[in-house]
Amino acid sequence: MCKHILNAQASIRAPCCKKWFDCPECHAEVSDHSLAKTTEMSFMCKKCRKAFRKDMSKYEEADEYCPHCDNHYVIEAKTPNAMLGVESEDTRVDNRAIKDERMKHGGKVDTAELDEWLEQLEE
Ligand SMILES: [Zn+2]
Ligand SMILES: [Zn+2]
Ligand SMILES: [Zn+2]
Repeated sequence: MCKHILNAQASIRAPCCKKWFDCPECHAEVSDHSLAKTTEMSFMCKKCRKAFRKDMSKYEEADEYCPHCDNHYVIEAKTPNAMLGVESEDTRVDNRAIKDERMKHGGKVDTAELDEWLEQLEE
């Protein structure tokens, strides 16, 4: 668990320095280089602590689940800001509610950092 994504469900192995990070910002904080892009990402599920690889060029909805324990590891990031006022146990529902609120008010929706990273890889 890192300070950027409070509900991170998986660690990701940076292809450039071969170290495990919870999110791209953790990598940026300790690295003097930018994160390398790769089509085959290595993940480690925080629930069962097993590693697995995913081909990001053909990433599907079923790939959002850990192949070992079915943990849904791609979830909307819960940032320290989003934590404020969120009390319920069900974080996925809450995050969706927050997002809907922001959409309604025409505000900018915070994209999950992990999603952002995945998108970058697909470029
Ligand atoms: Zn690196
Ligand atoms: Zn982080
Ligand atoms: Zn797992």
